[in-house]
Amino acid sequence: HIGPGASQRSRLGDLDTPSLPGETPTPMPTPTPDSAQLAATLERLDGRGYKAYRDIEGEWTFSEFTLFIDRVQADPFADPSKLRIRVPLEVAALPARALGNRTRQVAAAAWLARAFRRSIREVGPRRAGTGKGGLVSIDAGGAEVLERTAVVFGEHWVEARIEVGLPAAGRRALGGEAASLLTHDLREIATRAWIDRRDEDDRSLLEFVDCVENQESIRRQLRERGLIAFVGDGAILPRESGASERPMLARDAVPFSSPQAFGVEFQVPHADAGAKGQVWRGMGIPRGIVLMVGGGYHGKTTVLRAIERAVVAHGPGDGRETVVADPGLVKIRAEDGRAVTGVDIQNFIDRLPPAPGRKTAKSTRHFSTSDASGSTSQAANIAEAIEIGASGLLLDEDTCATNFMVRDARMQALVHPRDEPITPFVDRVRALYDDLGVSSLIVMGGSGDYFDVADAVIEMKAYQALDVTARAQAIVETDRHNTPRPAPMTPLRRPDPRIPLRAGFDARRGRREVKISSRDNEEIVYGTTKIDLRGVEQLFDPSQTRAIASALHVMAIDGIDEIRSLDSVLDEIEHLFDQEGLDGLDPLRRKGRHPGALARPRRF
Ligand code: ADP
Ligand code: MG
Repeated sequence: HIGPGASQRSRLGDLDTPSLPGETPTPMPTPTPDSAQLAATLERLDGRGYKAYRDIEGEWTFSEFTLFIDRVQADPFADPSKLRIRVPLEVAALPARALGNRTRQVAAAAWLARAFRRSIREVGPRRAGTGKGGLVSIDAGGAEVLERTAVVFGEHWVEARIEVGLPAAGRRALGGEAASLLTHDLREIATRAWIDRRDEDDRSLLEFVDCVENQESIRRQLRERGLIAFVGDGAILPRESGASERPMLARDAVPFSSPQAFGVEFQVPHADAGAKGQVWRGMGIPRGIVLMVGGGYHGKTTVLRAIERAVVAHGPGDGRETVVADPGLVKIRAEDGRAVTGVDIQNFIDRLPPAPGRKTAKSTRHFSTSDASGSTSQAANIAEAIEIGASGLLLDEDTCATNFMVRDARMQALVHPRDEPITPFVDRVRALYDDLGVSSLIVMGGSGDYFDVADAVIEMKAYQALDVTARAQAIVETDRHNTPRPAPMTPLRRPDPRIPLRAGFDARRGRREVKISSRDNEEIVYGTTKIDLRGVEQLFDPSQTRAIASALHVMAIDGIDEIRSLDSVLDEIEHLFDQEGLDGLDPLRRKGRHPGALARPRRF
């Protein structure tokens, strides 16, 4: 839909733009003013109050593209102005092979956004005056290749959605500076990034797109091959630092290599894009229950984190471009302090002791709290993931609640299971797979209790993966103290689905009917309700957070009928993304205008 698609055209049908070839001409075609007229207008408003910049809102014809000035900022310190640069595909002359299908268009858009960002740095428009004057930016994102609003294809054009700080001295418009910024620097940025491409740029574009398509091709095959993830031989998994998504320097990093027992091969559509040749070799992580063991600092978390982020594609040079995971994998962690609303956590937590003075205890089948404990929060995270269709769970001992993960034999001997509300994960993980088809990949260096239930055991030893499945099983068989674990008191049930209610969505704040904001990957404030997202580790990009904030509102307005389950409401939202792209989430719903910086979030 982001490319040559009918829905895109109809969505943009109400734009007051000149007709494009093949489209119905507008009845009274008034020629749009050109870049010289834009410069003249800007010169004229030099020295006037900042609001005078409003005069340039609208559409301006440049020789290579059309500049849309959708919204001029209110003052030099406000969010920068929102502009779009629309380049006819004829002018951009991208290699035709780059845009073959939807996957390729998303990848090409990601490459074009990165190229645009690089070009901004290279041209380096002069920062002028107060506030954000002279600042030019595009929301090109981080390491993950996500569908985003920054670059979008129409039938005949490709568009960059950018932000520009219009320069001011105090609160007076610096019209001359603005003229050189918009008619000179911006043109140079756009042409250098997208139009005056060299052969090597086109090679880089095609390699990027091919590499992403190779990953998608493997992602689509994982299920039928009985796998939840693939880690390519040669992948560089560690990052340069804990706070960075850039790869560790090659001379410091041990490249990944698969143990023979887990070795798999995938035929990919494009040779030499991501890895050499047309066959990618690496480690296949099977469905079922896989345990990753090893001493501290031997690289377990690093592998898990790479898999966690491989639910989406990575570009060449990232180090993780040959790591591919099932898109239904959900990282689960303890998240003490989180709110829980009507979640069925009975599989893990049941028979709470009654509160003092009460006869009966709180039910855990529709459990709510504003401040969950470590184990309760982890149980809720699992129930919610399964509720909306997770195919597998990723758990790391570093971020799990110990009493949720294990309960050893000695403790079972001392405290009777009847008096323990928590059924530890180790006693449910088998049934999660056998009965519900939900796999688990568990990083666990501290307890051998999981040997009994694991289908495969991988050891990380000095950053090398080894197959230790047989050894782990031998240890179970020869363990003389091995007392069989008592079966859980109740069989596993699929957690009850929830139906969201309208009353749960109140977007009012102060005098505003609708006020929704977000901060980084950390928080959404919906009306006056704060939603803490720090525990959602697979939220990769602040633009995804913004998209979730908008999606919540779309859901509240259009999605919730108090009949449909949360799972099916989310289907609806994903359908909207597929049909209209993320532009459909523009909180102001000004069709065809700059929609803000959004990236596609996962349903989880
Ligand atoms: P664990 O979870 O087993 O305790 P980590 O995954 O946290 O270990 O890794 C410990 C340290 O080793 C980290 O600083 C990480 O950057 C580094 N590291 C991990 N994998 C590699 C690798 N393949 N090559 C070099 N350094 C690595
Ligand atoms: Mg670790």
